[in-house]
Amino acid sequence: MVTLLVALSLFGCAKEDVRAPSGGGGSRGDDPRVIVVGAGAAGLTLARALHDDGVDVIVLEARDRIGGRVHTAHVGDAWLDLGAAWLHGDRGHPMADFATATGYPTTTDRVPWSHVYDEATGGTNTDAWWRAMEDAMDSFALDLPELRSALGDGASVADGRDRWLDQHFPDDGLDRRLAAFGIDQYIVGLEYGCPSSLQSLEWVWREEGVLPGGDQLPIGGYGPLIEALAEGVDVRLERPVTRVTWGDVVEVVAGGETYAGSHVVVTAPLGVLRSGAIEFDPPLPSAYTQAIARLDTGNLEKVVLSWDSAWWDGSTTFVAAAEDGAFPEFYDFTSYAGAPTLVGLYGGAFSRDLQASWSDDAIVAGALETLAEIWGREIPTPDATFVTRWTSDPFTLGSYTFLPVGASQDDLDLLAIPPDPSLGFAGEHTLFEHYGTVHGAMLSGIREAHRLGVTSIRTPGLSGY
Ligand SMILES: Cc1cc2nc3c(=O)[nH]c(=O)nc-3n(C[C@H](O)[C@H](O)[C@H](O)COP(=O)(O)OP(=O)(O)OC[C@H]3O[C@@H](n4cnc5c(N)ncnc54)[C@H](O)[C@@H]3O)c2cc1C
Repeated sequence: MVTLLVALSLFGCAKEDVRAPSGGGGSRGDDPRVIVVGAGAAGLTLARALHDDGVDVIVLEARDRIGGRVHTAHVGDAWLDLGAAWLHGDRGHPMADFATATGYPTTTDRVPWSHVYDEATGGTNTDAWWRAMEDAMDSFALDLPELRSALGDGASVADGRDRWLDQHFPDDGLDRRLAAFGIDQYIVGLEYGCPSSLQSLEWVWREEGVLPGGDQLPIGGYGPLIEALAEGVDVRLERPVTRVTWGDVVEVVAGGETYAGSHVVVTAPLGVLRSGAIEFDPPLPSAYTQAIARLDTGNLEKVVLSWDSAWWDGSTTFVAAAEDGAFPEFYDFTSYAGAPTLVGLYGGAFSRDLQASWSDDAIVAGALETLAEIWGREIPTPDATFVTRWTSDPFTLGSYTFLPVGASQDDLDLLAIPPDPSLGFAGEHTLFEHYGTVHGAMLSGIREAHRLGVTSIRTPGLSGY
């Protein structure tokens, strides 16, 4: 927090009412026009709030669709969310409140778990092994302060895990495997998308993350909600922004055209900012480029497998024998997708390897092999499949933010502070308490709307934010 206050005074961050002529950014004329870069959850929330307040706003979106990492698509007969699927909580969740206000139903996630499978022994025991894994994770979480002070801020979660396992499960065996799996997969790989050897021990599980109320799923997926959020907003598709000029003159170059405005808010993902695909003129202050370079994005990905009829029953967890992993879980989405569907989720080192060198066919074949092992039977050929590629998608370049060793909360906090009244950032990577989530992205859009002078948000469901 100390760093945040110092940065505020360094960069002269001030609340900026876009409707006041010639705001703090210099002589930008009497016709304020906000340019929002990116039509994901953050950009659309911001643009809709400005639009509903009567502010002139346009959104420049690189892709031929809106939503960004929220993308509901048809896979065979199933409707699936290829990016975000869950609303993590329903109290204080702007999308949950928007859904309620606009009449879009959500449902509590009640997916049944049928198998925790141990590759080393070929055994399966769902209830007892879930409990063992959860107990180990709880106990590891309680020991985090002690591990942090023993290992220092240069330690990764893998360092902490090894020390902790040696203390609590010195002997190789099922208990140690379950505990290691819980830490590697459920605390890190499936949560932050990154390998536990990269995730900072100091910053793991320090954010608020999940909101109260339990995981919810929007019925019909996130897609209809995103469409409803974009209602009335001037979104220009297929406009990849390559240059942002900020200061006294605000100009944004996208798809060969130049757009003039009074203010610009960039919501392009952290991976895109890290890649340098958007040039800033003048260049961003070095504190920003250094923060962007210290943070990183994980590699959570999905492989969707859909059949005409279900041959299985419930979701499964696959505890791999080797540390480099395998497809760790298959979620049974049948009751939400409208067709019998399993979604394999995977992240961490395993995902980095697959995304770098496996074809889509190889990933589907690998997932089917894992299912065959869990279920001890031949698996019918799926009727439809889909392999996500968020890691290499040029408009995402990673699933979402994590804090590697060397990064800290200060880096995300700084990205929430506009370098100049004419230039701000929003997106999941700009809100420490809730980074890596849809609600974090939306709350960052709301933060920017308030900064730009919207005192009370008129968008349905969002007036209390
Ligand atoms: C596989 C996966 C599963 C997830 N699961 C969940 C979940 O269950 N629940 C949850 O809460 N969160 C989940 N998340 C995270 C969540 O999807 C994101 O945190 C959130 O959607 C990010 O929103 P955003 O607006 O910050 O970024 P984005 O949605 O990425 O929006 C940024 C927009 O900028 C556009 N853009 C990029 N470059 C340019 C450019 N140069 N010019 C113009 N436009 C550009 C992009 O196309 C995109 O539309 C998941 C993410 C992934 C990848």
